[in-house]
Order: sequence, then C-alpha cells, then structure tokens
Amino acid sequence: MGTPAAPDNNRFRVLVVEDDDVIGHHLQTGLRSNGYTTAWTRTGATALTEASRVPYDALLLDLGLPDMDGLDVARTLRGHCRDLLIVVLTARTDDIDIIAGLDAGADDYLVKPFSLTVLLARLRAHLRRRTVTTTAQQQVRLGDLVIDPVARRCHLHGTELPLRLKEFELLALLARHAGEAVSRETLMAEVWDENWFGSTKTLDVTMAALRRRLTDAAETHPAPSHLPHITTLRGHGYRLEP
Ligand code: CA
Repeated sequence: MGTPAAPDNNRFRVLVVEDDDVIGHHLQTGLRSNGYTTAWTRTGATALTEASRVPYDALLLDLGLPDMDGLDVARTLRGHCRDLLIVVLTARTDDIDIIAGLDAGADDYLVKPFSLTVLLARLRAHLRRRTVTTTAQQQVRLGDLVIDPVARRCHLHGTELPLRLKEFELLALLARHAGEAVSRETLMAEVWDENWFGSTKTLDVTMAALRRRLTDAAETHPAPSHLPHITTLRGHGYRLEP
C-alpha cells in the first residue's frame, strides 16, 4: 500500500537548508526526481529570507549551520508560519537535542545518516496528513449535533457543549469517519501524537468523558435530541453511528 504520489508532489514546495554539499545535493536530486519543487540554501539567514519570500510546505533543516543554530531557524519560522512542516536533520543523537528540536517547533526529525527512502516516506505521510487536515475543516452535522473543527466548538440545538480539547478532537475525528470503524492506533496517532509511547488508557478515559458529556447534554436540553452513538468495537476501536 501507499503508492508514491509522485505526480502530485509538484504542488509541494520543499526548502532544503543544509551546508553539506554532498547531503544537500543528494536531497535536492532525490526530492526533484520524486516530483517535489525544491530550493536549497546553505545558511540559516538565507533560509529565513527564502521562507519569507516563498510559501514553502516543508523545510528540511540541518541543525549545524555555519551562521546560526538550526534550532533558532526553526523557532523563528514556527513563529511566522504555523502551517510549515519542519523536519530537523541532525547528527546529534542525544534525546535532549531531539527534544530541543521538537520544542523549537519542529514536527519531526531524522538522525544522520538517514536513507532517502525513509525521508520521502515521512514527508509523504506528513504532507498527506496536512491535506487531510485541510479537508477536515468543514462543519459536520450529525443528528442535532453540529461540529465546527475550525472554531473547535460543538453545539446541540445552538447550545455549546463544554468539551475539553482532546474530547473535541476525538469526537471530530470519529465524526469525520462516521459509520466507519476507527482503530485505537489511529485515534492515538491522530488525536494525541504519532510518537505516543505511553499507555492507551488515556483514550479510554477521554472516550468515557466524551460519552458522559454527550449524554448530559442530551438529558439537560429541553428539546428532544438526536445524538450520534459511539459504539465500542472490542479489540479494534470505535465507530460513530451516523
Ligand atoms: Ca551541517
């Protein structure tokens, strides 16, 4: 599965920020042969200028740059471009550096030496997810429930439900796939974090809270309400019944 979407890739612009000639050249060639539109800069300063000039979709960012720390580049760009995908390329393998990279606003990281195949797969997964996110910003109406992903609000007969962030995201994701079985792994990856290593008990707790809020809302509202039901699929996940 997951056929490379090479013909579609040219709508994605990738900026390579790397001072090593061999790696920079390798990345640019690899990206271009996979259909991406790319540019390559060797310094942090030119990366900042270039990124403010052109709306890039993704940035492949070396941390050890000649003029500044890549982390500062990530931090600055994250402040200006919320939608930019930042993948840090680092020779630093210490966890602390990786955490610093993610704290600085990077979305993902690859430790050098990395394979181009892995890089392309990650890039594809991230960019596809962003495309899905964009199409997922429309309002969803399920029975008497209206879910607005952009405002992150949910209304029943015009009354807002007091949902916590993760409860809302869980509901919005299930609503987007109404009538489909959604696995626990997918929910954990999409609602929490794809790098989630902890227990999935969080999911159960959040799901219980979400169900309680839906029931409470239906019971306290004066008008009779048609609310979607969330079915537990043992050993798999959940399905929101349309
Ligand atoms: Ca370097």
